[in-house]
Amino acid sequence: MRILVVEDEPKLAEVLRTYLQAAGYDVCCVGDGLAVMPLLERWKPDLVLLDLMLPGRDGLDVCRDIRASGSIPVIMVTARTEEIDRLLGLELGADDYICKPYSPREVVARVKAVLRRSAPPAPAGDRKASGLEIDEDAWMARLDGVLLDLTPVEFRLLALLASQPGRIFSRDQVLDGLYDDHRVVTDRTVDSHVKNLRRKLAAVRPDADLIRAVYGVGYRLDLAGDVGASP
Ligand code: CA
Repeated sequence: MRILVVEDEPKLAEVLRTYLQAAGYDVCCVGDGLAVMPLLERWKPDLVLLDLMLPGRDGLDVCRDIRASGSIPVIMVTARTEEIDRLLGLELGADDYICKPYSPREVVARVKAVLRRSAPPAPAGDRKASGLEIDEDAWMARLDGVLLDLTPVEFRLLALLASQPGRIFSRDQVLDGLYDDHRVVTDRTVDSHVKNLRRKLAAVRPDADLIRAVYGVGYRLDLAGDVGASP
């Protein structure tokens, strides 16, 4: 697997190169936003780790270019936490973000997680191993074999989060996924549906917190052994 690291601070780029290579990835580092698109064509990376503040071309513009050119996963790296919602939102569509300062190990763990969830879906047997089965045709969901008694909104919420386990969905994305008719709903509505869904999941699996709230951003489904399991 090939990782393109876009980072204009040479020391940071070298640290990332070292850790990512130790994890078995091929790594290419560039420090200029303008160098990204030509490399995408030529080197065909599997994932781009993209700093926000870059010379040449800003990380936001580069992210937009990458998105327009295909479906290569992008992890944004930023010290500007107020940008996070925009980074993950529909406008830019980054797959994940990492805040500076970071630990290189965390970066490697995120890279692994994003690559895992952008890989083709696992065979049904593997998916069942997580204990969660969702049958969208029959509107039925089971956790560890137990049929969950969900409202239609809770079912859609669970199906949405489970469509990409480990991915963070912003509240806006959750709202878009839950309501086709764009009726007026608030963040608090989402939070209360999440709360109810959590309670029903916890009734089956009391020791696990499957739906994680990511402070200030949104929610993600954290099936056992997914994001954050790496040392
Ligand atoms: Ca920078």
